Amino acid sequence: MGSELSGLQIFKYLPAAKKLPDANCKKCGCPTCMAFALKLAKKQIEIEKCALAPEELKEIVHEAVKIKQHEYTIGIEHPVKTGGETVMFRHDKTFVNRTVFAVTLESSDENFDKKLERIKNFQIERIGETFKVDAIHLKDTGNFLSSAAKVKKSGFPVIAESDDTEALISLKAENPLIITKNSDSFKENLVAVSAEDIDSLETASKEKLKNGYKKIVLNLPLKKIRETVEELTYIRRMAVLEKFEPMTFPVMVKIPHEKNIAKTAAAASLLICRYANIIIFEDFDEAMMAALFTLRQNIFTNPQKPLQVESKVYEFNEPDENSPVILTTNFALTYFAVANELESLPFGSYLVVTPSDGMSVLTAWSADKFTADIAAKTVKKFNLAEKVKRKAIIIPGLLSHMKDELENALEGWEIIVGTIEACEIPDFIKSLDYTKA
Ligand code: SF4
Repeated sequence: MGSELSGLQIFKYLPAAKKLPDANCKKCGCPTCMAFALKLAKKQIEIEKCALAPEELKEIVHEAVKIKQHEYTIGIEHPVKTGGETVMFRHDKTFVNRTVFAVTLESSDENFDKKLERIKNFQIERIGETFKVDAIHLKDTGNFLSSAAKVKKSGFPVIAESDDTEALISLKAENPLIITKNSDSFKENLVAVSAEDIDSLETASKEKLKNGYKKIVLNLPLKKIRETVEELTYIRRMAVLEKFEPMTFPVMVKIPHEKNIAKTAAAASLLICRYANIIIFEDFDEAMMAALFTLRQNIFTNPQKPLQVESKVYEFNEPDENSPVILTTNFALTYFAVANELESLPFGSYLVVTPSDGMSVLTAWSADKFTADIAAKTVKKFNLAEKVKRKAIIIPGLLSHMKDELENALEGWEIIVGTIEACEIPDFIKSLDYTKA
């Protein structure tokens, strides 16, 4: 039985389902056994409230509530979440929290300020999302307190590595992830458990649990990448399939300095896919980060929810009453492909995006998510008639068969069948000579 129990699955173990004499006795505080089952499924009542619940059900319920992988937050001002994964493969459900990217800064580095500024200033936009480095891994090489204050001021979550207990205590309020040999002062904080191999890591994790540590991140050393990926896979399997407690924690891997940045990028790519929750980079390179952010975004999108943009009118290059109107669906990749071309035009344009549940043009049409009625409602809702003199709408070439239907639904508007490929849009629109409209 899966980890999420339904009310019906629970009910079949209860006295009412088995038609026993004490069925619906109300002793649990619920009017019926079914009501109890539904509450139990929502975790609103404890199994112990029903004295008649069989041992078999108790075992199933206790197994179901066990955590697969703990989820933690690092930082305060711009907090980042890690862990909380429940599946081995993205297509089983979805991955939950993106791999955290942290960059190492040595506290005594004479270029500390410059490096911190460079990391802070780096950001990229991909499909409507802005990405920045998630955290700073501050390594104590001297001058720790002063450097810690700078990281604190920057707002980055901090992964603090030091054996100076006093220095680490000064960072406690920042909700850091702590890497230290003297972890006993930080039992209430999020601490890394480090070991050289997976067996020792398991032993160390068990030891920490026995000693009352509350929040743990497993710190796995990077060996040969194949070996590390195998170890990460083992840990993820033990967590989400076996719910083996010592392995139910997020895993962190540090990629040491490499002369060839392509090697770092290749290792990080594998670690994002299989199954590092946190990657610490000793090398910081904007081009590499941009590629890795893009990969990470792809891996961590929910396969059940297509990427979509808001349904509205997007304006490019300050359009006016002589500008063309283009219509498409709200699938993010379609939007960005079209938007990119409209941005390149030497004049303004309006892009009307219909609400199509994030489906591409033909998929939306075949699923009745792009109909003449929806298109007409969208054009009216956003008052396009008041924005332009020439009442013409350019529709995707793939929807040429909808021309008559759309003209009937959008009375007074001319429907122009556009191009199939987004890259052909600029030449096509130029050929319509809107400047003389
Ligand atoms: Fe049913 Fe148990 Fe509640 Fe009685 S105590 S109503 S048997 S669930």
